Amino acid sequence: MTSRWTRWFSMASLLLAILWLAPAGTGQETPLDGYSVADSKTQREWETKFQALPDTKILRSSMERLSARPHNVGTPYDKDNAEWILAKFKEWGWDAHIETFDVLYPTPKRRVVELTAPYRFTAKLEEPDVAVDPTSSQKSEQLPTYHIYSIDGDVTAPLVYVNYGVPEDYDQLERMGVSVKGAIVIARYGHSWRGIKPKVAAEHGAVGCLIYSDPRDDGYYEDNVFPKGPMRPPDGVQRGSVEDFPSSFPGDPLWFDRGDPSAPHYTAANAPGITKIPVLPLSYGDAQPLLSALAGQMAPDGWRGALPISYHVGPGPASVHLVVQSDWGLKTVYDVIARIPGASEPDEWVVRGNHQDAWVNGADDPLSGQVAMLEEARAMGELLRQGWRPKRTIIYCAWDGEEPGLLGSTTWGEVHGKELREHAVAYINSDSNARGFLFFSGSHVLEHFLNGVARDVEDPETQMSVQERRRLLAIGNARTPAERAELRGRSDVRLQALGSGSDYTVFIDRLGVASLNLGFGGETRSGIYHSIYDDFYWYTHFGDTNFVYGRALAQTAGTAVMRLADADLLPFDFTALADAVRTYTKECEDQLRKEQDEARERNLELKEGVYRAMNDPEHPLLPPKGAAPVPYLNFAPLDNAVDALTHSAEHYRRAVARSNGNLLGSPEALRPINAALIQSEQHLLDAAGLPHRPWYRNMLYAPGLYTGYGVKTLPGVREGIEQRQWQEAESEIARLGRLLNADAAFIDSTAREIEQAATEH
Ligand SMILES: [Zn+2]
Repeated sequence: MTSRWTRWFSMASLLLAILWLAPAGTGQETPLDGYSVADSKTQREWETKFQALPDTKILRSSMERLSARPHNVGTPYDKDNAEWILAKFKEWGWDAHIETFDVLYPTPKRRVVELTAPYRFTAKLEEPDVAVDPTSSQKSEQLPTYHIYSIDGDVTAPLVYVNYGVPEDYDQLERMGVSVKGAIVIARYGHSWRGIKPKVAAEHGAVGCLIYSDPRDDGYYEDNVFPKGPMRPPDGVQRGSVEDFPSSFPGDPLWFDRGDPSAPHYTAANAPGITKIPVLPLSYGDAQPLLSALAGQMAPDGWRGALPISYHVGPGPASVHLVVQSDWGLKTVYDVIARIPGASEPDEWVVRGNHQDAWVNGADDPLSGQVAMLEEARAMGELLRQGWRPKRTIIYCAWDGEEPGLLGSTTWGEVHGKELREHAVAYINSDSNARGFLFFSGSHVLEHFLNGVARDVEDPETQMSVQERRRLLAIGNARTPAERAELRGRSDVRLQALGSGSDYTVFIDRLGVASLNLGFGGETRSGIYHSIYDDFYWYTHFGDTNFVYGRALAQTAGTAVMRLADADLLPFDFTALADAVRTYTKECEDQLRKEQDEARERNLELKEGVYRAMNDPEHPLLPPKGAAPVPYLNFAPLDNAVDALTHSAEHYRRAVARSNGNLLGSPEALRPINAALIQSEQHLLDAAGLPHRPWYRNMLYAPGLYTGYGVKTLPGVREGIEQRQWQEAESEIARLGRLLNADAAFIDSTAREIEQAATEH
């Protein structure tokens, strides 16, 4: 390269950096990423009109309508809501229909939890109605408290308290000399997705599992309880799914992949997602007599909750009789699918979704997000009347069956998998919404794009942009000066990676559609999750009571949809992706070093007699087992691939910056490039899937095997290290390296296509 070119490049990249980092406020003159100057101006005008439309009064009345009766899968009101939503979409000018699927949906026939020793107590398993809350008394339509996809069972056994019931808790019990073999465990909610608790309990030989809500976590310790305050009352129960989707697959437990006729099909008797032991949820009102009947050693400090008792771990003398029997029938889910056909690029789809089914009345979960999505759809209908014609096709989905296991979205995604892989530009999800800060997570190619959208939406409490408020929160919450410096040097807020827990899962983990999950929160306290008290009364007293954050969610998600649907060049950016993969790689390397240090330290302390010296014979604690040495792993294939990815991402950014003026407004030149970009997230997939769980094809993000909703990034490598499967970890490093090198080559070739097309125009 000649020095003249070098100078040109460094000036160009400086200019680029300035443009890229341009703060909010000066942005009005800068065209939107992927838009020509003229198109950007028109787009901003439409977005301004759009953002004025979402109406807090309509958000409120829609929520009141949709939450008026219980509407879990299989109820008349679930179907009624779907039909009401369908009619609304049609009224607003959308082309809409309902797609139905029959799914396994067990409902409880018999539930018993009783203490048989040292005294008798029978758990109520019942949430009482509250006089001031009108829908809490709709007893005949409320789904009883239970965990869907628990196996049937009838067991009597000694009780053991296992804290949160995550693997480390069992390590601690082992040191205390307590086994759960043949026992029923009682775990508290929190620190992992609920389905992990019966899974880990069964792996340790337990025969039953109870999960209760401790007031320390979402009850009186936090604030007043409902109806005086927002927190969980003594008899409030968290229902929920315990389908073991992280180690098998989400969606209907009977179908591995409904879009693939050759994929395995199961019965309720052999479906891998059904728990191995029976499990039921409890209120703290029901849990307290069980816990206070436990003797044995005191629970360790960090295990104690806020009940007015001494927390012992047992086993015994408490003995519990647990019965779970369900009706294992099929029920129908109703997905409402609505579309605005694209004017010039109908084969490129922007997909948006939020579920509509609830455990009971579900004002917060999911209707606070659903009504925002509906306001977007109403506003877009209004824009259509005013002459707006999106370039691309927009598809809005009101999912059914999210609560039991993402049934509606997963099945729809699988059945339409081929089309989605070809046509879907992105999937934008939301779920519950509350007051506070914008939280966003998802595919890193959309990080810069979404920050741009969030800079153009005003926060209702502070009147700063929702992006700025979120950025400042990150600085305020940073723990180290280095973290703060890093955040201040970066204009974009980092996108968190997606695990699972809502309807984006099939899109990102199986289909490779770039996905986002959006929602506001952080200021609303809530202890009504998945109970009969999650209703209109609660939401309008303790949630986003004036619906201004519902409006902000509609403004944010709707603007994102419109901006993606109308862009000339899809505003994907790979530098945040490369940056994220670099960060995750470093985390895995640090994790390995930590494992090595801990193994060395533990073995040294065993040798020195530290554990023996510290042991109190009256409260004995066994020494841990000696640790097997942790080998060094060769991260070079991954480190090299991260460098390649970084270079190609920079190449792409340069190519876009230098050719924008020439390319934009030339649909023929852009069409093949956009088509390539639509496939870009699929370069992160490997058809063979993750080790031991082939449904999950994304090699960058997956729900954790032992966290559930919580994400594991670079899951093959990271979980290989965590599970001490060294050979597997090393081969996953190599596989990921190959995958990322191929992705880098794809990004380079797309950048070259842009350069090529730009010189031709
Ligand atoms: Zn939800």
